[in-house]
Amino acid sequence: MHNIDSEQSIFGIKEVIQEGLCIGCGACTNQSKFATVRFNDYGELTADISKANIQELDLMGKTCPFSDSAPNENILTETIFKSEPNVTYSDVLGYYTGLMAGFSNKHRPFGSSGGIVSWLLEEILTNKTVDAVIVVGRTPDSDRFFGYKVITDPCDLQSNGTSFYYPVSYDNVLRYIQDNPGKYAITGVPCFHKALRQLKLVNPIIAQRVVLQIGIVCGQMKSSFYLEYLDRKAGKTNPLIDACFRRKDENLHADNYLFEGKFLKNNGEMQKRIVKNSDIGSNWAMGFFKPRACDFCDDVFAETADIAVMDAWLDPYISDGKGTSIVIARTNLINQFLISGQSNDMLVLNSISENNVIESQRGGLNHRRVGLRYRLHIGDSRYLPKKRVLPSATIDIWMKFEQRIRASIRAQSRSAMRIQLNSTSFDLKLFNKNMRILLYIYKWFLRLRKIATKHQNYQKEFELD
Ligand SMILES: Cc1cc2nc3c(=O)[nH]c(=O)nc-3n(C[C@H](O)[C@H](O)[C@H](O)COP(=O)(O)OP(=O)(O)OC[C@H]3O[C@@H](n4cnc5c(N)ncnc54)[C@H](O)[C@@H]3O)c2cc1C
Repeated sequence: MHNIDSEQSIFGIKEVIQEGLCIGCGACTNQSKFATVRFNDYGELTADISKANIQELDLMGKTCPFSDSAPNENILTETIFKSEPNVTYSDVLGYYTGLMAGFSNKHRPFGSSGGIVSWLLEEILTNKTVDAVIVVGRTPDSDRFFGYKVITDPCDLQSNGTSFYYPVSYDNVLRYIQDNPGKYAITGVPCFHKALRQLKLVNPIIAQRVVLQIGIVCGQMKSSFYLEYLDRKAGKTNPLIDACFRRKDENLHADNYLFEGKFLKNNGEMQKRIVKNSDIGSNWAMGFFKPRACDFCDDVFAETADIAVMDAWLDPYISDGKGTSIVIARTNLINQFLISGQSNDMLVLNSISENNVIESQRGGLNHRRVGLRYRLHIGDSRYLPKKRVLPSATIDIWMKFEQRIRASIRAQSRSAMRIQLNSTSFDLKLFNKNMRILLYIYKWFLRLRKIATKHQNYQKEFELD
């Protein structure tokens, strides 16, 4: 047990919010008209359920991805995928019917990796498997710079392709689905799909209408401060009017993509500014602007979605700047779509081994399986949700230190950016000043670890307990 208060036996939705573990998915807003999702002071979308009554709290807890009142990924997927013919189960990847690496010729140029998600969305809209797809894109009339949108015209997919490292919520689109009969496909990171599966168990309308869940593999989400940070790194002078987190440069490695911000100059002319990922990439490892919930998630591969798509972060794919996706198909229907796309020359796909899929996400798995055990162990004095791995201190001293310093960097990046945004300047001077000592310690830690250790192989420890 991870809690210290014997009275608190269930880690419900109230505890999720109190402990800063709400990811803002908005599934709870479907269970109570008093639940809302809004930005907190740190650019994170979180639920406000203060006006909900006890029955509603109970219902909301059953759909919250970080609450213990809801079934976990293993229980959910056993009922969804276990009966699929020819399905394989892996403790690390979940259920799957096919593992492939490749791209869509048409969608690759604007897709985040190989454009496979955009291809699938176009395919299911065109062949009328669904009436609409629900994806993320620019939402200019909202306080959310990006958000979920309902799309019925395949031509709109290009402007809503790529990855949005920005907080989003299902709140508004769940209302849309509830009010508008039809069949929908929806994209989402792992915890969002888990919430949707849980919601489907208690809401037959959502269960009937959301017919395809398209998983975006996730190492971590970011708060809206990340967009501010990138904008400032790119040399912000005027407010942003649009942004792309993953502009490709085909001459570079796939992981050296660019952030591109667009703004209007004082004379009304549109201007673009860019930053290379190589100039900001280490923020991912250090966990800048990462919501706390991501430190208590054990699902990298969107195990509850019908398909999971990720970057092929391994050789030989990583050296191709045009981008390649790795795909985990979890149903035979998805397999059939992919195979017919391949035979119609729309997709280039190759089979890939389970080990290679795991290898492509080694960093995320280290954090979400191996590191999580230790974070649960050191969090024993705090109230935490139950995860599919157990608290443990049996990792090497270097990893222990890394978990602690990353947690400090994560927390400090939130408050340092808050201070920066409260100032009148458009730069990052205050942020950098407030981060300096921690980043200096982390830099020296990495140097020392490199000298002292060889590459650690944690693969066995990625499995569930
Ligand atoms: C927050 C985040 C973290 C990620 N972490 C990793 C990682 O650690 N390792 C890894 O390999 N890949 C990660 N990815 C996934 C990767 O960036 C690509 O999304 C994936 O490779 C699919 O690429 P594609 O070219 O096939 O998709 P595309 O053709 O680019 O289509 C992507 C679709 O997903 C939708 N979408 C984009 N962002 C979001 C979002 N935040 N929530 C819901 N829908 C969204 C878009 O609207 C679009 O329709 C992450 C993505 C996100 C958003």
